[in-house]
Amino acid sequence: MVYELPELPYPYGALEPYVDEETMHLHHGKHHGTYVANLNAALEQHPEIDRGNVDDLIAELDSVPEDIRTAVRNNGGGHANHSMFWQLLAPKSGVGGDEDFGEDLAEAITWGFGSLESLQERFTAAAAPGALFGSGWAWLIVNPDRSLSIETTANQDSPLMEGKTPVLGLDLWEHAYYLKYQHRRLEYINVFWDVVNWREVADRYEAG
Ligand code: MN
Repeated sequence: MVYELPELPYPYGALEPYVDEETMHLHHGKHHGTYVANLNAALEQHPEIDRGNVDDLIAELDSVPEDIRTAVRNNGGGHANHSMFWQLLAPKSGVGGDEDFGEDLAEAITWGFGSLESLQERFTAAAAPGALFGSGWAWLIVNPDRSLSIETTANQDSPLMEGKTPVLGLDLWEHAYYLKYQHRRLEYINVFWDVVNWREVADRYEAG
């Protein structure tokens, strides 16, 4: 078995005008596609490795042979992160608006942050260029006690690599926004809130 690029759950232009169609084509087809190809190429050297769920693969990096561990970390992380990211976005007019996140998640947000607006402010601050230097991701994590916290990772590292459960993630690589927003990362972070699929976040919170 080899890993495959999953289809987007919506058309490439569905997130316009917040995320433009050309960026979605390049980001999904070229960037995500390359992570998948490079992951498969690395694993070819070790046919004995179980190619199950990519989330499980990157959660057990210590058991990956050392000669391909960095390649699996970067490209397996890239495959897992992007596969999740596409699911976390939705057209603004579709399901998953912020009225749609269910009681459990709503309670956890109120308990942890006071309000959704306050969560968004803190997430945005963590994701801003001054806080996360270079390429990486910002995450909302569900902790074992059901509380939520905000974290960032560098490169394509995933919270799964540290045994943590992400319920929301934002790609902060320039390839995710540069065509439309150039250096204006904060503008991209702000429009992200217009296309978050909160129903999906809630489902992940309830499952995590
Ligand atoms: Mn990306």
